Amino acid sequence: MKELSDIGLIGLAVMGENLVLNMESKGFQVSVYNRTTQRVDDFVNGRAKGKNIRGTHSLQELVASLERPRKIMMMVKAGKPVDDLIESLVPLLDQGDILIDGGNTHYPDTNRRTAYVESKGLLYIGTGVSGGEEGALLGPSIMPGGSQKAWPVVKPVFQSIAAKVEDGTPCCDWVGENGAGHFVKMVHNGIEYGDMQLINEAYHIMKDVLGMSADEMHLVFKEWNEGPLDSYLIEITRDILAFKDEDGQPLVDKILDTAGQKGTGKWTAVSALEHGVPLTLIGEAVFSRCLSAIKEERVAASKIIKGPKPEFKGDKKQFIKDIESALFASKIVSYAQGYALMAAAAKEYGWNLNYGGIALMWRGGCIIRSAFLGRIKEAFDRNKDLSNLLLDPFFKDVVEKAQQGWRNVIATAVINGIPAPAISSALNYFDGYRSERLPANLLQAQRDFFGAHTYERVDKPRGEFFHTNWTGRG
Ligand code: NAP
Repeated sequence: MKELSDIGLIGLAVMGENLVLNMESKGFQVSVYNRTTQRVDDFVNGRAKGKNIRGTHSLQELVASLERPRKIMMMVKAGKPVDDLIESLVPLLDQGDILIDGGNTHYPDTNRRTAYVESKGLLYIGTGVSGGEEGALLGPSIMPGGSQKAWPVVKPVFQSIAAKVEDGTPCCDWVGENGAGHFVKMVHNGIEYGDMQLINEAYHIMKDVLGMSADEMHLVFKEWNEGPLDSYLIEITRDILAFKDEDGQPLVDKILDTAGQKGTGKWTAVSALEHGVPLTLIGEAVFSRCLSAIKEERVAASKIIKGPKPEFKGDKKQFIKDIESALFASKIVSYAQGYALMAAAAKEYGWNLNYGGIALMWRGGCIIRSAFLGRIKEAFDRNKDLSNLLLDPFFKDVVEKAQQGWRNVIATAVINGIPAPAISSALNYFDGYRSERLPANLLQAQRDFFGAHTYERVDKPRGEFFHTNWTGRG
């Protein structure tokens, strides 16, 4: 073992331990520390035994064991623990040392912490890390932002531990200043909510409208995973549907239908509201989890309120193809909305985001990894200033072709009383986005009627405002 380690890591829970083992496997010597120091000993004498990993029992010992400029990565619970650690570490560090937060931090905290740590003469990185426990060990997607000067120093470590796409490109590149990395990770998580909700709606329609069994749906997902929908989430859904409980019945049928959430989807939706970006699909995905969570209320309501009894008379094979089209088109809308949110935030915070690079970072290693992200990269290669993915020739063509099936799926779901909020909201956005004229003329009239909010006219230049006395009263 060398006298000084290449990097230090604090927080030996699942993510931290696995990242350390990943770094060590790529030739980096890592010093580790955990608040509960028993965990350090357990790790060093267990999974890390015989490896280039040094256990330390205090922050002072950790800092003293690192090569300069020091790089210390925190993988602890997001929130106050990160602020507390920063407070304890700052006095122990020297000019140019780098603090890295790899947790699921809300980006405004990273904006604030970057400024604070830089004011102390140090550098700061807030980075998204996606891929869960297995990704951390074998290759996560890493989305770093913060102090730009720190990037060349941490780049060799981050890019070597990150997942790689087929041509060897790492799923990790510099995202932007301050909280840009954590912002992009937040949008990634929001998109993950959306992708999952879309798959769930497809499953619901196949199960309750077509009356398909888990085994039958397993075969459909298997086929989808070999086409344009090829992705990690379709792949695990295929496997979940085939998984049997001890009695030989599909386990999925026995799982209670109430979804949990940790809040990153909500952050994405709130951020969209704050930035005035119509991120409707992810919003619906968050609300769908909320609706699922009120199980008792739904059970009671189901006994009182009646809807149509689902029945399907059409061509089942064609309808399954339509569902595939609806899923793909909705997914394109979801990413179009997510990218629009990133563009709005980039404008507000002055981040110079590399949109194609972000698609590449998500292409492997993370939960939303898919073949489709390669297409997004190509769209931004064609036009780096693309304002909406739906305007890219490839995506425009796919969505136009998918339209018929997409509309058919929604109409069928509506007639049969099966909720499909994400698939429908995607189509509503699509129809709204491609509308030259929306009914907001009437809305402006209403606002002017009751609140004298004024309106612009189609027959006068923009920026000229009018008010009408709608009632004729004085
Ligand atoms: P976690 O359960 O979120 O956090 C546990 C770790 O935080 C332990 O090392 C714990 O130390 C430490 N900790 C808690 N409070 C502390 C404090 N006040 N001061 C110092 N250390 C403190 O662990 P995790 O699941 O490995 O996740 C780590 C971070 O990565 C989190 O921000 C998480 O959101 C993010 N993340 C997780 C995943 C995932 O799949 N799990 C994926 C991506 C990102 P003690 O042992 O002393 O309690």
